[in-house]
Amino acid sequence: MRYFSLNNKEHFSSFEDAVIKGLAPDKGLYFPEEIKKLPDSFFRNMDSLSKAEIGYHAIENFVGDEIPKAELDKIIETTLDFDFPVVKLEENVNVLELFHGPTMAFKDVGARFMAGSLGYFIKKGNIGKVTVLVATSGDTGGAVANGFLDVDGIDVVILYPKGKVSEIQEKQLTTLGKNITALEVNGAFDECQAMVKKAFLDEEIQQKRKLTSANSINVARWLPQMFYYFLAYRQLEQKEKVVFSVPSGNFGNICAGLMAKEMGVPITHFVAANNANDVVTRYLDSEKYDPKPSVQTISNAMDVGSPSNFVRIQELFKNNFKDLRNIISSYSFDDDQTKSVIKQVYDKNGYVMDPHGAVGYLGLQAFLEKNRDYNGVFLETAHPVKFLETIEAVLNKKIELPEDIRALSRKEKKSEEIRDYEELKAFLLH
Ligand SMILES: *Cc1c(COP(=O)(O)O)cnc(C)c1O
Repeated sequence: MRYFSLNNKEHFSSFEDAVIKGLAPDKGLYFPEEIKKLPDSFFRNMDSLSKAEIGYHAIENFVGDEIPKAELDKIIETTLDFDFPVVKLEENVNVLELFHGPTMAFKDVGARFMAGSLGYFIKKGNIGKVTVLVATSGDTGGAVANGFLDVDGIDVVILYPKGKVSEIQEKQLTTLGKNITALEVNGAFDECQAMVKKAFLDEEIQQKRKLTSANSINVARWLPQMFYYFLAYRQLEQKEKVVFSVPSGNFGNICAGLMAKEMGVPITHFVAANNANDVVTRYLDSEKYDPKPSVQTISNAMDVGSPSNFVRIQELFKNNFKDLRNIISSYSFDDDQTKSVIKQVYDKNGYVMDPHGAVGYLGLQAFLEKNRDYNGVFLETAHPVKFLETIEAVLNKKIELPEDIRALSRKEKKSEEIRDYEELKAFLLH
């Protein structure tokens, strides 16, 4: 499969090149040249296939012959080695739980698939050693650290803002050791991000190390998120008029859902559920795309002012606003609404949502109010214990911690503090 740059549709790359580079040389996002529909019979016979077989059919055309089938099968097996249950909460309201992976957030799937693909290309031997450099505001760091742990030929360097990630998130990035290094930056996430960007442009560093990124602009992190929608659809009792509500930040996950629809998964509608960072909600109301600096909320993985994957969604709809609005609705909710719905759903159903999933639930309810005949699924993108303080305060009770989280909090944090870009550079050059 060839990928073109969204900045220049004449520039093509292979899958391998797109995975290694992340962004095209002209800084455009990569987009697949073709999205092939799967036959109806595939969807009728889904029950007889394993998770990994479904994953294989969803992704095979996007990889092409660049990874041999036996290797790709292994990568997919590892990627999908946990559960993706759909739980019925209320009439027409189901929750797709995406937090059963090792770091308890949905980013595990993309991080593991990317680690497997990049690991394969390195093993093949024409690119040498690679350093994955990534800034995190919380969940990305843990998923990337876990996914790339022990992958030969790859060093991982993660920058995170000191004191601004939750305790569990910090332990997930700082306790693995081996090929994973955590750098604690005395500053905000934006400064971490700025340092990473600067390093990518620094010739001296380029001469010493081959750098690549691992955020959702990378096709190997973005595309495997399609798996959720295939696997969820298979589990639904009601398979007609299906609407998915996706708590969105950089819009990689919902864009993968739209890709799944394009491949034939019978999904009728999507809800892009936003917190106070509402650029897409405003766009669908006004047709004006007007990004703003992000504001901080309790669903911090969605605190994005200018979503990097939105250009991919526009490409999918060939920049036709009306078509886009027919398929996607968007609503935005503030922290008070999020907190009160967490309490309300707990009181009514005994189900504990995390703040991101709660925004997804609110988005689904808003859509169903006017479209009662739909069958809804909202994505629960993280386990509530990752946001323990918020949840315990809202529910006014102690939450029981799973054993692996208790084990994690006993582990010793190892990180190096850096103050500025020069210290990052010195670290990368040593
Ligand atoms: C990353 C993340 C999101 C946002 O996903 P996007 O693909 O960036 O839209 C939502 N919830 C959680 C818990 C996340 O970690």
